[in-house]
Amino acid sequence: MSAPARPEKSCVACGRRITWRKKWARAWESVRYCSDACRRRRVLPVDVALENAMRDLLGERSREATIDPSEAARRVGGDAHWRALMEPARAAARRMVARGELEILQRGSRVDPSTARGPIRLRQTSSVPRSDAAGADGGSFVPVPPTP
Ligand SMILES: [Zn+2]
Repeated sequence: MSAPARPEKSCVACGRRITWRKKWARAWESVRYCSDACRRRRVLPVDVALENAMRDLLGERSREATIDPSEAARRVGGDAHWRALMEPARAAARRMVARGELEILQRGSRVDPSTARGPIRLRQTSSVPRSDAAGADGGSFVPVPPTP
């Protein structure tokens, strides 16, 4: 007994995978949040700031470098507030994984963002060539000249 394949989607707030439920059968396309808590919280400006901080931190380092999400939390929240931003930072990382920008590592291996527990490190996506990532958001497309 196999269910028809449904496009996988992730919560726009927490970035976790949304598990299909029967009650969403006719509205699956419009489901955006995994839970009422996420729907109430939404994505706040601080969440966007955390994403930007991760992008900046990774951009400042080598292609293969990893960062700890707490570095982004400290950059956004400063010494006084970074702890409160740790879970939002992990959510920001999961959203970026869902968009193909990041991968989440534990002990050097990629892990499922939806189920990872404990300390994580973040790295720029390695499986997708950077040129593809640029093309996805309307970046430069260079047509290949026909071979004579
Ligand atoms: Zn969620």
